This record gives sequence, C-alpha cells and structure tokens, in this order.
Amino acid sequence: AAFSDMPLTPHVIRAIDEIGYTKPTNIQASAIPLLLEGRDLIGRSCTGSGKTGAFAIPAIEGVDGSSHHAQVLVLSPTRELAMQIYVEMKKFSKYKEGVSLAVVYGGSAMNDQIKQLRHANIVIGTPGRLMDHMRRKTLKLDRIQTVVLDEADEMLNMGFIDDIETILTATPDERQTVLFSATMSAPLLKISNTFLTDPLTVET
Ligand code: AMP
Repeated sequence: AAFSDMPLTPHVIRAIDEIGYTKPTNIQASAIPLLLEGRDLIGRSCTGSGKTGAFAIPAIEGVDGSSHHAQVLVLSPTRELAMQIYVEMKKFSKYKEGVSLAVVYGGSAMNDQIKQLRHANIVIGTPGRLMDHMRRKTLKLDRIQTVVLDEADEMLNMGFIDDIETILTATPDERQTVLFSATMSAPLLKISNTFLTDPLTVET
C-alpha cells in the first residue's frame, strides 16, 4: 500500500512527501482507511510504530478549515508527547488551508494558550490543563468531531481516569473516538466499552 492509494487530499499527500515518508507503516496502513471512514478504533501500538501519523493524518483530513471552533481533540499523558504531536500535526497540515492548532499543558503560560485556543480547530493537551480550560470556558468541546486518547495506558497510570471521563462526556455523543495504547487493562476496557462505538482493533 502507498499513501497515494488512500483517499487523501493532494495537500496532505504533498505534506507527507515533503516530510519524507515514502510508505505507510503497518499501523498507518491499517488505521488510516478505517479512520477516514469514521470508525472508532483501538490501536495496540507503541512509540516508534508511526501511531502519530496514523491518527493525525485522518484527523486533519476531517477538519473544516473554514470553521474555527475545536473539532479535533488529542489527549496526551505528558507535555513532551503533547508537543511532539503538535509538531507532527503542524507538518502534516502545512498545506491545508484554515488549520489552526493549539497545544495546552501545565507549567506553561495560560495567556498564550488562551490566545491559541480562540481560533484552534485542533487542540492537543494533557488532561489536567484541558480541564482547567474547560472550567474557565476558554475551551468548548460541544463541536468536537474526533477525540484521540494517545498512550491511554500511561494516562490511566498517571491517575487521569476521572479527567478523561469528564472530558469525553463533555464532547458530542456522535463523535469519533480513537484510543491508542501499548497495553490493555480492565479500567481501559471499561473506558473503551463506555466511550467507543463498535471499535475495530488494529495492532502493529
Ligand atoms: P511515532 O510512533 O508516531 O512516535 O513515530 C515514530 C517515528 O517514525 C517518528 O520519528 C516518525 O517521524 C517516523 N515515521 C512515522 N511514520 C513514518 C513513515 N510512514 N515513514 C517513515 N517514518 C515514519
């Protein structure tokens, strides 16, 4: 399979070419077509598999660039991973008009984040800081189309389960939900049963 065999738009293909990816990784080849169809998905994969591209490319395709409310929400356990996802999504969306990203995490100035959030249609963040912005109403989740839980097992290990449930509950029921995790535990299965609809599982 090649990226050009997938139903991707030319500006996203151009960005992928420029980044230098010649062919999709296994997780990308299986996940991207399913996510473009709107399916919920559980990705069993670790860092290094290309999982960021697997969720980022279809999420960017789904963004309506003429509309500047939050449409895609990516939850990450750490600020380092959140930044990494931000940098990758920025590259993938370089040639798509109207895409605006915000990355929010603790320990960084609230004001800059609030400014970014005003026009962002893709929001990446750690659960605690996302909750802060929801409480301050500087982040509204009522028009979210896709939620990605990246490294979900790590987020649960760090005690973010209540925050994750609160955040997911605040998004529309019709959303697409994507969960990436290296391991699956009972609490994670419960999250999946509660918040994912007929998910398909893909493994690296
Ligand atoms: P990730 O698993 O998303 O953290 O990605 C691991 C590394 O693989 C990153 O440095 C990516 O830039 C790289 N990568 C992801 N997808 C591809 C691809 N299709 N071809 C070559 N490198 C890739």
